[in-house]
Amino acid sequence: MDDLLAQLRAGLPDEALITDPDITASYAHDMASFCEAGTPAVVVLPRSVEQVQHVLRTATALRVPVVPQGARTGLSGAANASDGCIVLSLLKMDRILEINPVDRIAVVEPGVVNATLSRAVGEQGLYYPPDPSSWETCTIGGNIGTASGGLCCVKYGVTAEYVLGLDVVLADGRLLTTGRRTAKGVAGYDLTRLFVGSEGSLGIVVRAVLALRPRPPRQLVLAAEFGSATAACDAICRIMESGHTPSLLELMDRTTVRAVNAMANMGLPDTTEALLLAAFDTHDPGADLAAVGLLCEAAGATEVVPAEDTAESELLLQARRLALPALETLKGTTMIDDVCVPRSRLGDLLEGIERIGEKYGLTIGVCAHAGDGNTHPTVCFDAADPDESRRARESFDEIMALGLELGGTITGEHGVGVLKKEWLARELGPVGLELQRGIKQTFDPLGLLNPGKLF
Ligand SMILES: Cc1cc2nc3c(=O)[nH]c(=O)nc-3n(C[C@H](O)[C@H](O)[C@H](O)COP(=O)(O)OP(=O)(O)OC[C@H]3O[C@@H](n4cnc5c(N)ncnc54)[C@H](O)[C@@H]3O)c2cc1C
Repeated sequence: MDDLLAQLRAGLPDEALITDPDITASYAHDMASFCEAGTPAVVVLPRSVEQVQHVLRTATALRVPVVPQGARTGLSGAANASDGCIVLSLLKMDRILEINPVDRIAVVEPGVVNATLSRAVGEQGLYYPPDPSSWETCTIGGNIGTASGGLCCVKYGVTAEYVLGLDVVLADGRLLTTGRRTAKGVAGYDLTRLFVGSEGSLGIVVRAVLALRPRPPRQLVLAAEFGSATAACDAICRIMESGHTPSLLELMDRTTVRAVNAMANMGLPDTTEALLLAAFDTHDPGADLAAVGLLCEAAGATEVVPAEDTAESELLLQARRLALPALETLKGTTMIDDVCVPRSRLGDLLEGIERIGEKYGLTIGVCAHAGDGNTHPTVCFDAADPDESRRARESFDEIMALGLELGGTITGEHGVGVLKKEWLARELGPVGLELQRGIKQTFDPLGLLNPGKLF
C-alpha cells in the first residue's frame, strides 16, 4: 500500500488522491447496491490524459487492479470496486473540448455529464440524441462503457451509433487513438465500436469524438391508457407496422404509474393497467399524434390524451424518468432487469413477467423503452429478508431465461457487470465466450482492468 501511494504521488497532485477509508468506501459501488463490491485501496481523480497514463503504468508495475468509474449510476455493478483496487474516477475530466457544427461532431472528455453536453450542443442548433433517464447525472464515459440507450433511441439509436473515435489509455499506459472525426471511415477493424459497451475492461476512455445531428423541433407527447399490457403491446406493433417512427415510445405498467404518483404526485391515471407514451418531433407532430392516437384506439385504448404543449409533454417525460427511483421506494431495494426482445414478442414477455411475479409472490413493476422492445422489469424486495432476496434473484433470472427464449438479449442497455455475468456465458455460447475472452487477454494480459466484470 505504501509503495502504491508513493508511486502514485510521484505523478499526481495531492488533491487527485483520496485515501480516507470513510470517503473511499463511498466509491465502492454503483446504483445496484445489492451487488458484491470490494474495498478500494485508493481513489484517484485525474485531470489529464498524462495523469491517467501514470496511474495505469503504476498499476501495471505493481499488479494492482483498476476500476474506472463515471457517475456510478450504473445498474449492474459494472463500476463496483474490487478489493485493494485503484478506483479511477473520471469525473474531473469534464471538459467539452470542441463543438463543430460543420463536421457535426463534439469532442469531449469522459466526465462530461450527458445533459450538460446536450444543452451545450443545443445552444448551437445541434443535438446529441442518446438520453438515458439518468442524463442529468451520468457521464459520457459511463455511457460509452455501458453502450447506453435512452428514451429517444427508437428513432435515433443508441450510444454506439454516435461514437466516431476514441482516445483510450491501455492497461500498460500506452495511448491508443481509434476511429475518426470524418463522416465515413472503414480503415481496419472497428476498435471504436469494440470499446463501446466494454464496461471498462479493455482500457480507459479519456477522450471521445461524438456525432451530432441538427436539433429537431421540440417533441409533443401523447398518453394512451389501456385495460391490459397486452393491448398496449398490440398498439406498439400497430404503430411500428404502419411505418410511423415516433421519437419516443415508452410504457409504464400499473405498478409503475402508481409508484410515480405516490412519489411525486404527477397526476398520472392511477386506474390504468398500462400507460403508453408516444412522441413526435416532426414539423407537424399534431398530425402524427392524431394518427397514432387512432391506432391506439384500434388496439383498445380506453383513453387517448395528447399533451397540449411542450411544457405538458416535458412533465410526462419527467414522470417516465422517475419510474426507477419510484419503484425503489416500494420495498427499499430493486433488482432491475433489462431484457430486450423483438418488439413483436413484447406482449409474450409482459404476460410471462406477470406470471413470474405471481409465482414468486413479488411485486415486479415494468417500465419499458417499448418501441425498442427493451423492458425494465423491476423486482421490488426487502434486502433484509433472506427468503425474499432469494425469490427476487430467482425471479430476476427467470425473466432473463424468458427473454432469451423469446429471441431476445439479457441486456439492452445496462450492461452485464457482476449482476448478469453467468447469463452472458449462456447468451454468447462457448465459441463466442472463448473469442471474447481472447480479446480481453489481448488488451489486458494481466487482467487488471475492472476484474470480475462481464466474465
Ligand atoms: C434512475 C436511473 C435511470 C437510468 N436510465 C437509463 C436509461 O434510460 N438507459 C440506460 O442505458 N441506462 C440507464 N441507467 C443506467 C446508467 O445511468 C447508465 O448505465 C450510464 O451510462 C452509466 O453512466 P455513469 O457515468 O454513471 O457510469 P458508471 O456507472 O460509473 O460506469 C458504468 C461502466 O462504464 C465504465 N466506465 C466509466 N467511465 C469509463 C471510462 N472513462 N473509460 C472506460 N470505462 C468507463 C465503468 O467501469 C462501468 O463499467 C439509469 C440509471 C438510473 C439510476
